[in-house]
Amino acid sequence: MASTETLEDIKARIEQVTPEEAQNEVEAGDAVLVDTRDAVNRQEVRIDGDEFAPAGNGGVQSHTEEFGDRVAELAGDRSKRVLVYCNVGNRSAVAADALTREHGFENVASIEGGIAGWEAAGLPVVVPEGMSAEQRNRYSRHTLLPEVGVEGQLKMLNAKVLLVGAGGLGAPAALYLAAAGIGTLGLVDDDEVDESNLQRQVIHNTERVGMPKTESARKTIESLNPDVDVVEHRMRLDASNILDIISDYDVIVDGADNFPTRYLLNDASVRLRKPVVSASILAFDGQISTFVPFEGPCYRCLYPTPPPAELAPSCGAAGVLGVMAGVMGLLQANEVIKLVIGIGEPLIGRLLLYDSLGTRFTELKVRRDPECPICGPNAEEIPESELGKFPDYELFCAA
Ligand SMILES: [Zn+2]
Repeated sequence: MASTETLEDIKARIEQVTPEEAQNEVEAGDAVLVDTRDAVNRQEVRIDGDEFAPAGNGGVQSHTEEFGDRVAELAGDRSKRVLVYCNVGNRSAVAADALTREHGFENVASIEGGIAGWEAAGLPVVVPEGMSAEQRNRYSRHTLLPEVGVEGQLKMLNAKVLLVGAGGLGAPAALYLAAAGIGTLGLVDDDEVDESNLQRQVIHNTERVGMPKTESARKTIESLNPDVDVVEHRMRLDASNILDIISDYDVIVDGADNFPTRYLLNDASVRLRKPVVSASILAFDGQISTFVPFEGPCYRCLYPTPPPAELAPSCGAAGVLGVMAGVMGLLQANEVIKLVIGIGEPLIGRLLLYDSLGTRFTELKVRRDPECPICGPNAEEIPESELGKFPDYELFCAA
């Protein structure tokens, strides 16, 4: 539009229709209805049966060839009746003018008053289901991503994720999974917050020293995001309780600080076919992989036996860079979200090593072990009566 032109000039030369007239045309099947607002507007409210061609702020994008081509694609051809709308009818007026004068459309009208006028006239609108207005706002930066969308966010809100350990890995992972809107977060930990934890376990704080870690984490999560249900499992996982606990969850985050728990979790999760995002940290180095039973290797395929005691962080007070632990915990949270939504490439069959001093990532391929006693083709079937019974891992690891 020329700089001397006002919106009134434009509205005077285009065709405008009332919301009622527009609805009649759409219902008769004579017109293509096009929303010219931004994606974020559509998540709030839109008109049923519409198409989407964003015209940009003030309609500036309606002058681009892309916009004309997009509407032509939606309409089928440029002689077709096209009704454009926006929030209050200004942007769509500019778009209607551009479609007519610049893009060769023959029969375009803008809906007067936009969707606000449409709603004021009592005509029906579509409000995305399953999310409240507060949730649409809270998660708008997720839902704006086409790969996530409202559908992906709803998957997260309905997901149940178990974190084994609310420590160096579990604390940052839980914090971000809670912020992301994972609807149920289970926390397994029987420890209490210690001052020496606070250098990396950012879900806890100084006032909570002495408090059970699951309780401290729950308090932080509840104040961060009221959408999240926190389930506290204030205990150690053992052969008698593990199947019962993990059966309720969709994905498990392994942030255990000892090998007996890792092997126990692996064997139980393979049996129940639960994906596990597993990471470990020591000093300046971390590693992470995603174990999806029978789709890729399991933890035992990767580590048939635990490393010697001097390499096992749980066997002594080992130092760890707090920030590195945070990086690994967030990589776990990232893997969880991909698994929950079903996007991207999970770390299945890949072991990712992170060297924080060199700031280097190295990826190793890991294959399923045909000799694996848990997920291999010759793994012995354990009768149902034996479910929940595992060999003595404490002894196994000590050996
Ligand atoms: Zn295996």
